[in-house]
Amino acid sequence: MLRMPSLNITDIHECRFLLFDDLHLLWGQAAGAESGKAILVVDGNVLAAHRDRIENAFPDDSVRCFEVPPGEGSKNSDMWNRIIDFAFSGPLRRNTPLIAIGGGVTGDLAGFAASTLMRGLPLFHVPTTLLAMVDSAVGGKTGINHTFGKNTIGTFYHPQAVLFDTAFLETLPQREWLCGLSEVLKYGYISDPELLDKAAALAEPSGRFPERLRLVIERSVRIKSDIVAADAREAGKRAWLNFGHTFGHALETLDNYRNINHGEAVYAGMIAALFVSRHFGHEVSDEPLLELKTNYRLDIDAYTSRVDELVTLMTHDKKNRDQDIRLVLVSGHGKPLIASISDKTLLRDAWIYAFDVLA
Ligand code: ADP
Ligand code: ZN
Repeated sequence: MLRMPSLNITDIHECRFLLFDDLHLLWGQAAGAESGKAILVVDGNVLAAHRDRIENAFPDDSVRCFEVPPGEGSKNSDMWNRIIDFAFSGPLRRNTPLIAIGGGVTGDLAGFAASTLMRGLPLFHVPTTLLAMVDSAVGGKTGINHTFGKNTIGTFYHPQAVLFDTAFLETLPQREWLCGLSEVLKYGYISDPELLDKAAALAEPSGRFPERLRLVIERSVRIKSDIVAADAREAGKRAWLNFGHTFGHALETLDNYRNINHGEAVYAGMIAALFVSRHFGHEVSDEPLLELKTNYRLDIDAYTSRVDELVTLMTHDKKNRDQDIRLVLVSGHGKPLIASISDKTLLRDAWIYAFDVLA
């Protein structure tokens, strides 16, 4: 495997980013003197598809493994409790490493467990979805869901290292690829326009050349970690990461998280946000997104007649101040800005436009 120098971004709590390393190199980072057996928390699908690689990556008898049933349903207090019980059922010390191997669900859940066990165990992330690599494994957020809402219980807790092994992506289902691609396209619009073409080229398996994939992941990780380092606590710049998300969250909520996944909702949301940007005279194009329309194939038929409900949901978004809607727009490709929008008709029109072009 082509080795690249590890990105060393000490600004965000000395978390090290081991880019494009093989999984077995993680042990050198995680093993410590007298640390007991490391705890692996692994997504069930990932374990099924990569069992040998995972087992061979750690010395005999050096780890014990907790399997997380795949899916968002595992991000709850019951599963958190089970990980805690599992951790205490074997040798556990304050320096026992906890290694999360999986997508965002596993990372958020295991990260929350690591942050709460004995006031914090050393945490290592091995993201196995494109979405987790370019988004959730960077930035130090952990969490579980509650009946009150998604990610309503959680902590800011930085891993000691994040290891990116692209071999995991070989088994990632196509729909999950597109989910991650939405965030890459987002980075293209808010920071690095070159990513727009590069990301689009990854939409189909035939375009997934290793160098292209690595470039896209590395640049995305840099953008997210730079933004997070500049603004670790959710004000200012971190809001840029919400480009397409205020619209997208409304669609996910209306859909009850059933037919449309996060990346698909954000994809539609970015088209709407670009419409609003153009309304204010900014010269920006949604063409890079619309080219991927046949790849995404959004299941929006049930929602095209429910635009008013979407607008109402947007006004309830927790990130809004007062009645106005705070939206991330772009004044050019790679140039984000925050706008306070009071014109509900404009938001309506943006949804109508997005649904129209996606139909
Ligand atoms: P995300 O990373 O998109 O937030 P999840 O953690 O739910 O979300 O992962 C999405 C789905 O992909 C889950 O069904 C998970 O089991 C599966 N998955 C994760 N990584 C891989 C992989 N490398 N190969 C195959 N399936 C994977
Ligand atoms: Zn997102």
